[in-house]
Amino acid sequence: MNDRIAVIVEHESGRIAPATFEALQCAIEIRRITSSEIICLTVGEKVDELCADVSELSGMPAMGVVIPELHTYNGEAFLRAIIFAAGIVDAGWVCVAGTTQGLDLGPGLAARLGIPCVSAVERVYEKDSKPVFVKKLFNGKVTGEFCIGNHGVVISQPGCFTWEKISTPACRGVDKIRFEPGLLRTRVLGTSLAEPADSGLAEAAVIISAGRGIKRRENLELVSKVAGLFPNSSIAGSRPLCDDGWLPYRLQVGQTGALVAPELYVACGISGAQQHLVGMRGSKFVVAINSDPLAPIFNQADIGIVEDAESFLTDFLRLAMKSDDVAQP
Ligand SMILES: Cc1cc2nc3c(=O)[nH]c(=O)nc-3n(C[C@H](O)[C@H](O)[C@H](O)COP(=O)(O)OP(=O)(O)OC[C@H]3O[C@@H](n4cnc5c(N)ncnc54)[C@H](O)[C@@H]3O)c2cc1C
Repeated sequence: MNDRIAVIVEHESGRIAPATFEALQCAIEIRRITSSEIICLTVGEKVDELCADVSELSGMPAMGVVIPELHTYNGEAFLRAIIFAAGIVDAGWVCVAGTTQGLDLGPGLAARLGIPCVSAVERVYEKDSKPVFVKKLFNGKVTGEFCIGNHGVVISQPGCFTWEKISTPACRGVDKIRFEPGLLRTRVLGTSLAEPADSGLAEAAVIISAGRGIKRRENLELVSKVAGLFPNSSIAGSRPLCDDGWLPYRLQVGQTGALVAPELYVACGISGAQQHLVGMRGSKFVVAINSDPLAPIFNQADIGIVEDAESFLTDFLRLAMKSDDVAQP
């Protein structure tokens, strides 16, 4: 097997998903070590413009894999198409973004291609002329380094690779092949748009954000009261709270939620998983309250408070109610 690097172009409604460029940057970092060529693979019903766009923006050649009458993403069809195209372009490496779609495809691709898979990759460096992939383990408390040899599927962690825009964009050649996926067991019955992100959250100057560490649903009232002390504020939360129905999804911060950039972000009982950090990275000042002194969120915090979130918020509220001098952001 050759060692060309195929980057899977994720797209939605005719637009390239930004995470694709992070996967591309990850591929560029592998190329620095292996000197392999990069090719962008776009699968779908209509791929011409997407291929031209990705080639122009990245300066890499692109190949479109057309699946006739495939109106929406179908993991089974995409998997078969990518395996087919990977054979044609002699891909030894496949880079995908760690989005819902990328996580759907990556491990299956590796299994079907018979190559290793490394997910949640945050950094790549060289050792003995081979790429080493760095990722977080145990909810961010441990960093692991993995060498997977000369071939593999690499899933880049969203928010970890910064795309280095090329200065002179130019299309570097586009090929197109047609692929018939055959009988599919997966049928997409329908898709619907999620609730739009809460504009209040995107514009809030202060966000008091709750995680599983607040322990009880009733404590959200406490979180709301603390938020209420600040003008232009909002409450928000981590994904488990939304999954459990404690908060609406429009208030979820993170990779699959809202990206926020407040003056002050207070993380209450949030561990600091990468998927959450991606969403709050733009915050100007971060206060983290967590009972575990080793919680990864403290690596992102300007002020860390090692305490039970409920007790701290209760005391803070009581003190604030006594004083008229609540800090204005
Ligand atoms: C594809 C994908 C997308 C995802 N997208 C998102 C996303 O958009 N947003 C998101 O948030 N997550 C997302 N996740 C989930 C993410 O990986 C984490 O599981 C999630 O962020 C953890 O939420 P948490 O910090 O509230 O809970 P936990 O990880 O369970 O952490 C709870 C924290 O509370 C602390 N704690 C416990 N008791 C107390 C106490 N009494 N007082 C104070 N602290 C206490 C603990 O020490 C711990 O650090 C995604 C995951 C995947 C796979």
